[in-house]
Amino acid sequence: MATGAFRHPGGHLLHTALALKPRNPKGGCRLGELRKQGKYSILTPAMSPDSTQLVRLNSPGPDGGSRKPLFGLDAAALAAIMAECGEPVWRGRQLAEALYRQWITDIDAVTTLPQSLRRRLLERGWEPARPQIVQIFRSVDGTERYLVECPNRNPQDRVKGPAETVESVWMPEGDGGETGDELDPDSSNGPGWPRSGALDSGKRKLTPAVLHENSPVGPSKTRRGEAWNRATICVSSQVGCAVNCQFCLTARLGLQRNLTAGEIAGQVVAVLERHRVQVGSDRVNLVFMGMGEPFLNYANFMAAVRLLVRQVGLSPRRMTVSTSGIVPGIEQFAQEPPEIRPRLAISLNAPNNQVRGEIMPINRKWPIESLIDAVRQVPLRPRERITFEYVLLGGVTDRPGHAAQLARLVRRSGLPAKVNLIAWNPGPAIPYATPAPEAIEAFRSALAAEGIPVYLRLPRGRDIYAACGQLKRTLEG
Ligand code: SF4
Repeated sequence: MATGAFRHPGGHLLHTALALKPRNPKGGCRLGELRKQGKYSILTPAMSPDSTQLVRLNSPGPDGGSRKPLFGLDAAALAAIMAECGEPVWRGRQLAEALYRQWITDIDAVTTLPQSLRRRLLERGWEPARPQIVQIFRSVDGTERYLVECPNRNPQDRVKGPAETVESVWMPEGDGGETGDELDPDSSNGPGWPRSGALDSGKRKLTPAVLHENSPVGPSKTRRGEAWNRATICVSSQVGCAVNCQFCLTARLGLQRNLTAGEIAGQVVAVLERHRVQVGSDRVNLVFMGMGEPFLNYANFMAAVRLLVRQVGLSPRRMTVSTSGIVPGIEQFAQEPPEIRPRLAISLNAPNNQVRGEIMPINRKWPIESLIDAVRQVPLRPRERITFEYVLLGGVTDRPGHAAQLARLVRRSGLPAKVNLIAWNPGPAIPYATPAPEAIEAFRSALAAEGIPVYLRLPRGRDIYAACGQLKRTLEG
């Protein structure tokens, strides 16, 4: 379930107003290093002077595929590399600490390793090679969409030409999707949080300051001049997607390739580093709802989750993976131990097989009944609920009868569940309509009247094509 690269209708890039400051005292500033080396520039034509801000960086170059990435390897693999170098296995732990806790991207900055060992690693082709943010699109609502460069692929899978990019999104204050979860019972849709009124336009100008005023709790973060109490990072699992949901811009790319575990976890660490997140104390949620279907890249997706939990130190209870309904993937997911298993969201989007089959061809292979049966196999933790994501398509999935059907479906499933409603986010040449605010509110009220826990997800970053279903990788302006 996902989002992709950016194509702005005007085709112009806006001069940045973002400050590019050093952000990692130990690892140094990647942007600063690149600037000194003349490897990036800022493009200037104005797109919308009062709204979107954008930074564009040139990629470090086409020869990035000659290195072997350390980032993405687990503790055992790092220990094995050290053993090959004739070093004790605890050197692997030092390396893991540098990569995943200190977020070091330059092997020379790993000062816990002797200089001779660092040189040996380089001679053998090993480098951190963590994915890096190379382009930033900033929304008027504070959301940021990133092109994240994957500098290395598997040694046997290297390509010539510029390094590839994938997309990730940072949403200060989240988008309401986590509301009602056991760790975020009051997160949004609470006092002062914009509800249906915010759904009528992607152009509503919510500055970070406004968000902070509306927030039930005062701001806790002012790094980079931002104010946020909590945030959500949306992560991609594939380049493109094969599932072909009819309302999704990412589907237009088709599937280009699976991301590696390092490329998935690297998006997260790059964004954590940019916003100077303090792991363990800051409220940051991860949603695997970017480009791609995570359960069609299951092994790499779960390997990334294990890295993020065991090495980076993030909680799986603050992670949500969304699937379009890949039944074998859900069954495999049900076997994962709870200490590394993210929460599960089902991208349902329709209340019956007929409508779902039209907008999500995957439903013809795994209809709703088999999907629900698979979800029932997932052992939930105390107070955990399944989330049903439901995109409201004007005139297609937002009718009053659909709300009644959806309520029955959720009730009959017997699952502890909540419904997240999302007003469809427009994409070029996709023939659907965003429902009227009144229709959204009527749908929400109908579910609530049936006793179904229901929440509205806010459209975040529509003006930069960062909202749900809008990601479609582009490098052009
Ligand atoms: S096509 Fe479907 S599964 Fe794939 S990214 Fe889009 S919404 Fe998600």
